[in-house]
This record gives sequence, structure tokens and C-alpha cells, in this order.
Amino acid sequence: MPASNLRILVVGAGIAGLAVARALRLAGYRPEVTEKAPAARFVDTGIYLPGNAARALRELNLDGPVRPLGQAIHRQRFLDAAGGLLCEVDLVRLWAGVGECRALPRSELHRVLLTGAGGEVRHGVEVRTLQLEQRAVTVTFSDGRIAEYDLVIGADGRRSAIRALAALGGSARPAGQIVYRSVVTGGPRISDWTALLGQRTGFLVMPMGTSRLYCYADEAGTAPPRDPMARLHEVFRGYGGPVPAVLAALQSVQVEVTDEVDLGRWSRGRVVLIGDAAHATAPTLSQGAAMAIEDAVVLAETLGRADDPCEALIAYENRRRPRVKWVLDRTRDRDRTRDVPPALRDPLLRGRGGRIFQEHYRLLLDPA
Ligand SMILES: Cc1cc2nc3c(=O)[nH]c(=O)nc-3n(C[C@H](O)[C@H](O)[C@H](O)COP(=O)(O)OP(=O)(O)OC[C@H]3O[C@@H](n4cnc5c(N)ncnc54)[C@H](O)[C@@H]3O)c2cc1C
Repeated sequence: MPASNLRILVVGAGIAGLAVARALRLAGYRPEVTEKAPAARFVDTGIYLPGNAARALRELNLDGPVRPLGQAIHRQRFLDAAGGLLCEVDLVRLWAGVGECRALPRSELHRVLLTGAGGEVRHGVEVRTLQLEQRAVTVTFSDGRIAEYDLVIGADGRRSAIRALAALGGSARPAGQIVYRSVVTGGPRISDWTALLGQRTGFLVMPMGTSRLYCYADEAGTAPPRDPMARLHEVFRGYGGPVPAVLAALQSVQVEVTDEVDLGRWSRGRVVLIGDAAHATAPTLSQGAAMAIEDAVVLAETLGRADDPCEALIAYENRRRPRVKWVLDRTRDRDRTRDVPPALRDPLLRGRGGRIFQEHYRLLLDPA
């Protein structure tokens, strides 16, 4: 069968699903994309993309449309809870030759990816059953349709249904943080990615252009509070630096818990997982989007090279595993430092924090 005739279903139109649809289209395939959420569903928040996300977007010819969005971020500043400087990372130097770091509204990234994917997504439709056969997968959809595909790509996020239907794994494991996110308009002037580190709590704020700030705060825990806004104020009341002014400017807040997905294998027969469905981590290193887009690029590349799609899925997994493991391990390393009392941790970060934080990205400077 010529490659372009391969019948491919992508399940999920998030970052991974739209990126893989784009990558496949560039490689000459015509995938179908199905998404369980309705088309207009966004309560917007921000996203921070490190340099390797920009490189992966470049592989999809989407760096141009993303570059005018949000704001390029040149420096990370780590402060103690009172607002005193602990250390800095020069992002321009760190990611030189790889790509620019950027903070932007999620909805704007989504719009670029959706256009790049050809815009054709069947919204409001879920996959109900998968029947895995030797050379095909039969899929039943929630609207009653039944169709056969040569390949099904599960890009349906950390709580993936495809993962369960293909017996690749069960529920995601709680990673142990409750996250509060907000987009603030007209808050204090902040020009850098700025994180204040407390004990088992952290408050991050960064500019997204046009007087908007993206605010991301977290505390240890697994159950979201009843009143997130009240809780956010309660936890970060004693913080210094820009925090009081950011809190004063907050209009609304979204709350989420973090998850981890760590699987023994990512494919079964002609069903494969990408993005968070295969390997979600806590967002501590902000690598979720980069890993999802890199997955998409590599999967399309390996499919194009292999005679048999099943071989391609194995090649894809073998190539992606070391990077994804690096992200999981470094995320856990960084998260462990959250438990160390600031009186012990902060002197270390004042001396070596810049080098320690840069080291977390070392492997990711290399191409995917
Ligand atoms: C609080 C928080 C903050 C984060 N911040 C950042 C950050 O700053 N930078 C960064 O790079 N990453 C960040 N991440 C991680 C990042 O959001 C994810 O890694 C990324 O969204 C993964 O993309 P995905 O497409 O795999 O999954 P998702 O974005 O979850 O998309 C999955 C899609 O599949 C759809 N879907 C689900 N089930 C089905 C089904 N059964 N059938 C059809 N469709 C389905 C969903 O509706 C969704 O559209 C953050 C994560 C969290 C939780």
C-alpha cells in the first residue's frame, strides 16, 4: 500500500494530536482526527515553551506563525519566598542554536496547530471500542460509526482512553501537586520568567506580551480545594517580590492536579500512544508540549521510512524513550528539592542553582 493511502486515525486534538496530524500531512498522509470535546471549549491559560519546543515547531514549519505570539523569554530568575534572588539562567545562551523560549496563551498555540493540521477535526466524538486485528484496527465511535484503520494514534492525553482500550496501561498516577493557573491583565511589570520557591509550594509568573502575565502556582497535594481562589491567597499570602501585586490583579483561577504516566510499552499491534497519553509528567520542566511535538515529528519520520507500520512504531518508541525518561527523571529530581527546607536548599541554590537548573535540559539540547 502506498504510504499516503495508509488509513490513520488520530484520537485527541490537543498539542500531540494536532502536531502529529500536521507532521503526517507534511509527509503525504491524510489522517482523520477525532476529539471528544466540543469545538469551542477553551477557558484560556498560558503555556511556556522552552527552546526545544521551538525547534520541533520549526520541523513542522510552524515556528513562523508562533513567533509573533506571546513573548520571547530570555531569562529565568529563581527567588526565595521573600523575593530575594537565588539564581538565574540565561536562556538565550542555554538554548543558542536550538530555539527561542516563549510564553503565550494556550488558545493561540492551539489555533496555529489546528490550522497546521488542516483544520479538519471531528469534535464531540469519542472512541468507544477498539478491535485489534493482525493488519488493521476496527474502531467504534460514540456517534455509532464503525470504521477500519491501518493505524490508530492515541493522542488523548494523560487520562487516555486509547491506552486503556489497547491494554497499554491504566490510570495516570498522581504526581503530587495542586496547580493554580491564571492569566492576569494589567498586573505588575515583569520581564522575565520569575519563580519564587517556598517549601512544597512555588509561585511562577511570566510575561505573555500585551500587558498579560501567565501565573502558575502550586502546592503539594492531590485533591483540589473547594475554593481555589481563597486557597491561592491563603497559601501565598506571605510571599514577597511580585506576588502580592499579582494576587491583587487576579480575576479568576483554574485548578488542576498533576499526573504521571510511565508505561512498559507505547504500542500494541497498530495502536500507538503519543504525548501525555504515553508519558505525562508533572509540568515542572515545562516539557509536555515539546515532548508531544517531538513525538509527532519522530513518529511521522519513522512511518515514512518503514515498510511495515508496526516496525515504525517500535522504531519511534526506541528513539523517543531516552529523552522522555530524561524528562521524567529530571522532573522527579527537581520536584524532590521542593521538600527540602528552604534554610538548607536556598544557600545551595545561591551558589550553584543556575548550573543545576541548566543541567536539567542538557540532553534536550540535542536534536530529538
Ligand atoms: C497545570 C499544567 C501546566 C502545564 N504547563 C505546561 C507548560 O507551561 N509547558 C508545557 O510544555 N507543558 C505544560 N504542561 C503539560 C502539557 O499541557 C501537556 O504535556 C500537553 O498538553 C500534552 O498534550 P497532549 O496532546 O498529549 O494531551 P492534551 O493536551 O491533554 O490533549 C488531549 C486531547 O485529547 C482529547 N481527548 C481526551 N480523551 C479523548 C477521547 N476518549 N476521545 C477523543 N479525544 C479525547 C482531549 O479533550 C484533549 O483535547 C502543563 C500541564 C499541566 C497539567
